[in-house]
Amino acid sequence: MLTLWMEPRKRIALIAHDNCKADLLDWARFNRDTLAQHALYATGTTGALLQKELGLTIHCFLSGPLGGDQQVGAAIAEGRLDFVIFFWDPLEPQPHDVDVKALLRIAVVYNVPIACNRASADFLLSSPLMGASYPRQLRIQPLSTPSRGD
Ligand code: PGA
Repeated sequence: MLTLWMEPRKRIALIAHDNCKADLLDWARFNRDTLAQHALYATGTTGALLQKELGLTIHCFLSGPLGGDQQVGAAIAEGRLDFVIFFWDPLEPQPHDVDVKALLRIAVVYNVPIACNRASADFLLSSPLMGASYPRQLRIQPLSTPSRGD
């Protein structure tokens, strides 16, 4: 068992499929003050919209269908992200469905908190653990320990 410590300042990835972007923007606007206390990352289009909406710095990956979801998954595996808000669309097939599935899988492998709808995002973001250090336990033993740096 490997323990990775999550710092009080979480590194959060935000992603929304097109039909869910308005919902994520609305949620993020409501939670702006809380989000501002953390390091924010996003897939390309979601990130550009959030940056404009919130006026906060968002570290943007590529657009989801162009590899952004895979980049988020890789960042989780490398220990560079520790939290995901992913408003994925359960009603429309996506060209990058396999990437979405891979990201959901890797988040579970690395025991990363992941909210896939607005109610889950509300519950996660309002948890007292958001502002605390947290020992995230992994049931895997990577060959090299994921780094903790940004
Ligand atoms: P986008 O990607 O933020 O670039 O739209 C989201 C996704 O489809 O995964």
